[in-house]
Amino acid sequence: MVTHKKHYLYNVIFLWIINYYVTKLTQNYFESDYLCNVNCYLEIMIIVNILYSMLLNKCSRCHKGDVFVSKNPYDFKNMFNVLKTCSHCNLIYEREPSFFYGAMYVSYAISSGWFILWYALENFVLNWETMHFALFVTGFVIVVSPLTLRWSRLIWLNFFFKYKKEYNQNPEKNIG
Ligand SMILES: [Zn+2]
Repeated sequence: MVTHKKHYLYNVIFLWIINYYVTKLTQNYFESDYLCNVNCYLEIMIIVNILYSMLLNKCSRCHKGDVFVSKNPYDFKNMFNVLKTCSHCNLIYEREPSFFYGAMYVSYAISSGWFILWYALENFVLNWETMHFALFVTGFVIVVSPLTLRWSRLIWLNFFFKYKKEYNQNPEKNIG
């Protein structure tokens, strides 16, 4: 009975947090007279640009050249190997030594995201036994870790070099 109450309390807190953020986000986006004002459109475009670069392994500045040597995140030989420069706009990916160490913060956020996602599914859909669930999630996070690593580096790169149309179109003008 006691554990039941605890479980219920956790669910309420969890839902409250999710609800808080969803409300905040949607308020920002949809409170204006128009469904989506210019700022909101720009924000969505930034997210779309980051997703494009992240999912397709593309240079964050020009969206043309590759970032990781291998296109396959599960190519264990080249898992950590990032090209020196972009083949299209000559962007130097590792601006300073250990530039990609900062990607650890992003990696931490993505991993937390996996946990939150599975926690929500467990509570509202799956309802597995706690032990099975814990083992499954641990396994899942290990299996997707190469993907998490890749995405975290690409997102980190996107934080510093935003997509610019001119770099996409005129490679000859570009300098690192
Ligand atoms: Zn580039």
